[in-house]
Amino acid sequence: MTLDAKIPLGPLTDKWDQHSFKLKLVNPANKRKYDILVVGTGLAGASAAASLAELGYNVKAFTYHDSPRRAHSIAAQGGINAAKNYTNEGDSIWRLFYDTVKGGDFRAREANVYRLAQISNNIIDQCTAQGVPFAREYGGLLANRSFGGAQVSRTFYARGQTGQQLLIGAYSAMMRQVALGKVELLARREMLDVVVSNGRAQGIVVRNMVTGELETYAGHAVLLCTGGYGNVFYLSTNAMNCNVTATYRAHRRGAYFANPCFTQIHPTCIPVHGTYQSKLTLMSESLRNDGRVWVPKQAWDTRAPNDIPEGERDYYLERKYPSFGNLVPRDVASRNAKEQCDMGKGVGETGLAVYLDFRDAIQRDGRDTIEKKYGNLFQMYEKITADNPYEMPMRIYPAVHYTMGGLWVDYNLMSTVDGLFVLGEANFSDHGANRLGASALMQGLADGYFVIPYTIGGYLNTVSWDPVTAEGPAFSQTVSEVDARIQRLLSVNGTRTVDDFHRELGLIMWDYCGMSRNDDGLEKARGMIQNLREEFWKDVRVPGDDKDLNQSLEKAGRVADFLEFAELMIIDALGRRESCGGHFNEAFQTEENEALRDDDNFSHVSAWEFAGDGAEPVFNKEPLVFENVELATRSYK
Ligand SMILES: Cc1cc2nc3c(=O)[nH]c(=O)nc-3n(C[C@H](O)[C@H](O)[C@H](O)COP(=O)(O)OP(=O)(O)OC[C@H]3O[C@@H](n4cnc5c(N)ncnc54)[C@H](O)[C@@H]3O)c2cc1C
Repeated sequence: MTLDAKIPLGPLTDKWDQHSFKLKLVNPANKRKYDILVVGTGLAGASAAASLAELGYNVKAFTYHDSPRRAHSIAAQGGINAAKNYTNEGDSIWRLFYDTVKGGDFRAREANVYRLAQISNNIIDQCTAQGVPFAREYGGLLANRSFGGAQVSRTFYARGQTGQQLLIGAYSAMMRQVALGKVELLARREMLDVVVSNGRAQGIVVRNMVTGELETYAGHAVLLCTGGYGNVFYLSTNAMNCNVTATYRAHRRGAYFANPCFTQIHPTCIPVHGTYQSKLTLMSESLRNDGRVWVPKQAWDTRAPNDIPEGERDYYLERKYPSFGNLVPRDVASRNAKEQCDMGKGVGETGLAVYLDFRDAIQRDGRDTIEKKYGNLFQMYEKITADNPYEMPMRIYPAVHYTMGGLWVDYNLMSTVDGLFVLGEANFSDHGANRLGASALMQGLADGYFVIPYTIGGYLNTVSWDPVTAEGPAFSQTVSEVDARIQRLLSVNGTRTVDDFHRELGLIMWDYCGMSRNDDGLEKARGMIQNLREEFWKDVRVPGDDKDLNQSLEKAGRVADFLEFAELMIIDALGRRESCGGHFNEAFQTEENEALRDDDNFSHVSAWEFAGDGAEPVFNKEPLVFENVELATRSYK
């Protein structure tokens, strides 16, 4: 099946304006007749809930956290992109659009990316008006710094806490609506299924995580804003609770999953230090503005970094990519770090690390300046590693960080299930095969503040505003299926913990579907995942019961979904006979070991349809048409 992305006709620059004009409006008096369910209260969810309630819709917002402010968005450090061109460096909407399409290795939709670049400027205005304390220049203008894949400084930031400050803005806007009675906030609720009837999303089933009760909610539309699935790798920079359950359960109900194998590996994370580690920590990309990445020229060099003279250091990114240097995009920087370590040039006890060195920046700008820019990040690094990065280079290594894949959505952010919209990292987003730094916050807030408020009206005009209730066979059937699954998890009563299974799955994914992949490895991983899944259902141990707070049960459900979803990632990776961005199949590379795309055959979005347990998922294709940019070999030299 060829998917219809509903991309508006007309010139690229006019598409969004024309489309938002043509979308039918919902009369203000009728808006209060519609109930909207928003699952997730991170940046995408909180901004959507606030904006829709402000418009007059009745919103119910769900999160499994005790407070929306614990959403994973709070972890974002480095910044948010926008094409304001305050620095007068020649930035423009067109340049942000082009950098993003190129950064994504030409595997994103032109129309969506252009809209994102257009909206980027509104986001900064909106957040500034809310009081988000962006860094400022001495003249009062908001300050900018550089991120990977761009030669202009367009990243707005609030020290190393940009996500936290933006979330406080979105959360405050939402809480204002809670106080006004337009948003009902339902915390400690985990969505375990979508109720679909007659091809339309009618509501959701959630588990009250405190009482264990299964609750049902009906709505005229459902918005999934539930974040990414990087934790399928077990170790990642994502918050520990991030998972795939909401999107994967929706997938099983008819929502296609797009490009699931497109995972972003971030080059600058604190390296793994032990088998029983459960979390990895990001060192923001902003550090590559001033930090220089290097390894010893000689393999197996065990000298301390400060004992290695300048002439014996290889600043390999600056050497190989003189134009972009340390600010090459993440996929390129990550693969190069791996390549150096594979050649025996990795540093530290494990040999799986490279240096990120601030010596020259401190000599040039002074310690105070560096501390002002990155103080909290340096402090975090020192707390975790006990090394002082002002005196000794940081040791860093790539780690799983973000997922470009997600539920397929059309230009209106609607999935293949009518009335089921997907926002933020949960959709397959605008980033193609590789996301540029500081573009996730931009996309989540664009979706929530500026896209969905328009596009949802277009959909609601097609459905009746008659009150909806969580009654009827579709609801009772879905509840009994959710309950049966919970009882099954509790009844296995085996010997291995959920974490034990998750750790093993993560290693399989990292080894065979991580920074680089090959067919043999992917095939092997598929078999290993199938076996592990079988063992899980025979031998997992979930203590406690379902009538109470039970974190083991919560995790078990999420890991059970990861065990199914991981296989879909492998199938997707096997099917894409090219390398692009975050998907690097060793069989497809240039002589210089760069990703080798096959535009003739793979310039498309792969969207997978669930076909039943045990059946092969069905492949669907959305061709990507490039009318405004030339598909070039990506070069950062
Ligand atoms: C360490 C780190 C630093 C980053 N720094 C940057 C940066 O500087 N710039 C940038 O652009 N991007 C950055 N990113 C990426 C960015 O933070 C995320 O992509 C973005 O915040 C995701 O927002 P979201 O609203 O889509 O999802 P999230 O913030 O993950 O929110 C998901 C929400 O869904 C809820 N939820 C999920 N599943 C369920 C369920 N089943 N039932 C009920 N509720 C559910 C959660 O409770 C939560 O409220 C960073 C990522 C990491 C890991």
